[in-house]
Amino acid sequence: MSELKLFNSLTRQLETFTPEHAGEARVYTCGPTVYNYPHIGNMRAYVFADTLGRVLSYKGYKLTHVINITDVGHLTDDADAGEDKMEKMAAEKAQSIWDIARHYTEAYWADIKALNIRQPAHWSIATDYVPAMIAYATSIADKHCYELDSGLYFDTSTVAHYGALARAKTEDGEGRIEQVDGKRNAADFAIWRKTPKGETRQMEWDSPWGKGAPGWHLECSVMSEALLGLPFDIHTGGIDHREIHHPNEIAQNQARCGSDHSGAHFWMHNNFLIERSGKMSKSSGEFLRVQLLIDKGFHPLAYRLMCLQAHYRSELEFSWEGLQAALVRLKRMVMGVSNLKVRHAELASPPVTDVQGDVAPAIAATLRDFGAAVEDDLNTAIALTSLETLIGLKKVDVAQQLAAVAEMDAVLGINLMALSRTDLRTRPKNAIITEDKIETALAARKEARAAKDFAKSDTIRDDLIAKGVEVMDGDPLGWDWKLDI
Ligand code: AMP
Ligand code: ZN
Repeated sequence: MSELKLFNSLTRQLETFTPEHAGEARVYTCGPTVYNYPHIGNMRAYVFADTLGRVLSYKGYKLTHVINITDVGHLTDDADAGEDKMEKMAAEKAQSIWDIARHYTEAYWADIKALNIRQPAHWSIATDYVPAMIAYATSIADKHCYELDSGLYFDTSTVAHYGALARAKTEDGEGRIEQVDGKRNAADFAIWRKTPKGETRQMEWDSPWGKGAPGWHLECSVMSEALLGLPFDIHTGGIDHREIHHPNEIAQNQARCGSDHSGAHFWMHNNFLIERSGKMSKSSGEFLRVQLLIDKGFHPLAYRLMCLQAHYRSELEFSWEGLQAALVRLKRMVMGVSNLKVRHAELASPPVTDVQGDVAPAIAATLRDFGAAVEDDLNTAIALTSLETLIGLKKVDVAQQLAAVAEMDAVLGINLMALSRTDLRTRPKNAIITEDKIETALAARKEARAAKDFAKSDTIRDDLIAKGVEVMDGDPLGWDWKLDI
């Protein structure tokens, strides 16, 4: 196999992946702030990180993946302005932060499962690391920090090339950084936020700088170092993190390493999922969550497929039509694979194992194209077409063909080997008719047609239509009905 090329945001170039530790890949992904449900844009970041991890496994690296859960420190503004998102939500809901964190972490994990995202080696919870954060901050405080009434601040002028990742001018802060009285440089950031006098926070810890809570950027530096060691291989996050959060992590890592090293060899960023009507805003009533897609009758893996159809570095515009098209594509693939499974069973072919031995040239060609695509900075859009070509091959050994499908699916994670046609028939929450009733009506309609009682057959169909069921006579994919979604 050839080299794996990945786009490094640090150099804005494709670079060959060479691990820090032979045979291993260590990856850190900035996780969600669990003050609310993740929207589907957030989940794009984890589909991307998961696909990266799967490609690294496919390339034979032993993967150690860490995703953190931010349950403290993330303010309503990425700079040092606003309130702690967790404190704010807890006050709004009159609940404890711990309950809020538990509820939304579980909701996030449900989405992780629904999108077939593999479990990382560690889910690191920020509040478990507060003593480690205090120790870390203490170790860099003398050389790199200064204290103000509001907290301990990192002096960004003490490290070389601050902000190189963002490629932003930092002198004037470009209006992005809230001025705090006494800050030495506009880009300086709080690594410890003192609880203002006379106030108490639900979450506060004693520290050498007084009672307070850690700044958000500190946690990722501390947890990545603790769980992966510095330098590690790849740090991922959404493209917004390239501007403030990751430059600040890098500054802390530099302070810690005493070198020019950013802490990770690659910094990789997924571009945004965009939605023009504002439904992705967590403050909009019915905002776009994975559960909403399911409630509307879309299998969640149709959304994963939608993400994979675009390159992770491109913006992806969400639309229901786009999601519908992805669902149809998924159905086609699932049906193709089901047919292969039927043929495999009928032919009593050898069991499906790994792809090995003399593989038919046509299968080998699709595997080669697939490999080349994913090695080219995770070009999943092209990889999907290789998978479809493979599924469509005729006159090749079907056991080998299925083995190759399984190999590709292990990388793309659309769960093709396990999904059945009926799994894809997700029931919209507001559907007024059950599957059993539909099947019974369709059987009665079939009988009526066989008896040439077309009036009765039409009445049954019209009745089904009135209940939101489309009867699909002669559907090329072999579906006999679908619910309107
Ligand atoms: P947060 O919970 O706000 O820290 O965000 C979790 C992850 O989602 C981060 O990696 C963000 O960069 C990423 N993210 C936020 N909005 C979007 C979006 N619209 N599309 C893709 N990724 C996003
Ligand atoms: Zn982070």
